[in-house]
Amino acid sequence: MGNSSSSSTPTLAPGRQCGTCTLCCKLIAVVELDKPEQVWCPHCVKGEGCTIYADRPRVCRDWHCAWRSWSDVPEEWFPRRSGIVLRADPGGITAFVDPGRPRAWRAEPFHATLRRWAAPTADRGFQVVLVRVGQEAFAVLPDRDVALGPMGAGDRLDVRCNRGPTGPVYSARVARG
Ligand code: SF4
Ligand code: SF4
Repeated sequence: MGNSSSSSTPTLAPGRQCGTCTLCCKLIAVVELDKPEQVWCPHCVKGEGCTIYADRPRVCRDWHCAWRSWSDVPEEWFPRRSGIVLRADPGGITAFVDPGRPRAWRAEPFHATLRRWAAPTADRGFQVVLVRVGQEAFAVLPDRDVALGPMGAGDRLDVRCNRGPTGPVYSARVARG
C-alpha cells in the first residue's frame, strides 16, 4: 500500500506522493495477506515502503487513500502527519485513525472537515462518515458524533435521515454482518 504506484491511475490528485508515509500498511486490512486492520504489515518497513513491492497483492496495487485520490481533501490530511488514513467508500468515507493517536480525528481542522463532509448538500444528500479507532467506531453525523462501540469486519454503518417536526433527524447504528 505505502509508496504505491500512481502512473496507471488517472484519478490521483496531482502533486501528491506517498513519500515516507506507509500508514495505510498499518491501518488497512489486507485480506490476501491475512493482515488485519491496525497491525503493521510484515512486509512494510515503516517510513520507507514495501519490501515485496513488485509482488505485492492486487489490493495493494489498486489502493490509494483518499488524500492521494481527491484534490479536495486538504493538504493537512497527509496521513503521516495527520495520523488518519481516509478511504473512499460507496456513499461516504471512512477515517482510519492511528490507535497511537486516538484523538487525532477530534482535533481541528480534522473534526470540522469530517462534519462538513457529513453535511447534506443539494446535489448528493448526506455522506456516511465513519471513524475507526482500533475496534471502536464513531459516526460523524451532520449535527453530532455517535459512539458506536466495537465494530467487526463484517459490520456496516447504517445512517438514517428522517423528517422531524423541526427539520431532519439523523440516527446511526451498526448493522451486524
Ligand atoms: S504488501 Fe506491501 S503494500 Fe501491501 S500492505 Fe504490505 S507493505 Fe503495504
Ligand atoms: S496512506 Fe495514502 S499517502 Fe500514506 S502510504 Fe498509503 S496511499 Fe500513500
